[in-house]
Amino acid sequence: MNVLVTGGAGYIGSHTAKALAASGHLPVVYDNLSRGHEDAVKWGPLVKADLSDPAQLVAALREHRIDAIMHFAAYAYVGESMREPHLYFENNTVNTLRLLEAARSAGVSKLVFSSTCATYGDPVRLPIDETHPQRPVNPYGESKLFVEKMLRWYGEINGLNWVALRYFNAAGCDPDGEIGERHAPETHLIPLVLQAALQPDKPISIFGTDYETADGTAVRDYIHVADLASAHLRALDYLSAGGTSRAFNLGTGQGHSVQEVVDCVHRVTGMAPAVRREGRRAGDPAVLVADASQARDILGWTPVHSSLPSLIETAYRFMRTL
Ligand code: UDP
Repeated sequence: MNVLVTGGAGYIGSHTAKALAASGHLPVVYDNLSRGHEDAVKWGPLVKADLSDPAQLVAALREHRIDAIMHFAAYAYVGESMREPHLYFENNTVNTLRLLEAARSAGVSKLVFSSTCATYGDPVRLPIDETHPQRPVNPYGESKLFVEKMLRWYGEINGLNWVALRYFNAAGCDPDGEIGERHAPETHLIPLVLQAALQPDKPISIFGTDYETADGTAVRDYIHVADLASAHLRALDYLSAGGTSRAFNLGTGQGHSVQEVVDCVHRVTGMAPAVRREGRRAGDPAVLVADASQARDILGWTPVHSSLPSLIETAYRFMRTL
């Protein structure tokens, strides 16, 4: 299939483009390169254009004879979304509406959407399954939840077939070391702990040491980007086989604390990251862990790269190539 990969120059989009090509599909990357990297587009053409441009969207869908869309392009900093919510509603929500309209006029009826566990907000039960209430606690999560709601109506009214994949904590880099995670600024835990190990003058701040968890630090469900990529391929197969439109959680079902990540980085690199213990970060729940049994049972998806050492080893390998 010819698959339009919006945000295909970004972190999860580029890993999925690689996986698509490895399965015989053609990834056509649609990216304005505002936060992505041109050198991460290696497996198909790049359409350098903006999602806010309906004419370019429709032209790309027609010219490349697109069969399906994987929609990654979005802003993804929770903190930024609390300071500048309009960026998130504009880029993540309004621009997705433009994409849905373009898909409708070009007759593209399959779409896989990058959603997030941030659509759930504070957990009322754990692990979090897909029926958990969705009450986002920041504009980032809300901007993605609005899209899920639009997808439902485009499905019911316009016949769009869609899957929303709700990622937990994406981490790790391409196991072959070809592409990886390059956020500017970097705010994610694993790359920051690795940087702290490599640069003793840059300690890692642990946000919160008084949570009600085994070691007092917050627990997250880290999922390898290569496993996220394989889930997108499964979702595409599912839609192609006539599967019902719906959302799936993507996580391992196993949580790791911030302290466990620090200890594992020490073991993997042989260097002890300098640590600064700080107060909790606003809006961070103590524990976020997925129930991803639906993705396993219905999509036949199993994470294979997501052990904590594998997440850290692949991220470390890529970081040393920079
Ligand atoms: N975290 C931390 N120090 C940092 C960055 C993150 O202690 O410099 C913690 C954060 O509070 C959360 C976990 O690490 O409990 C994962 O955070 P990240 O920003 O990687 O992902 P998020 O859960 O915010 O999507």
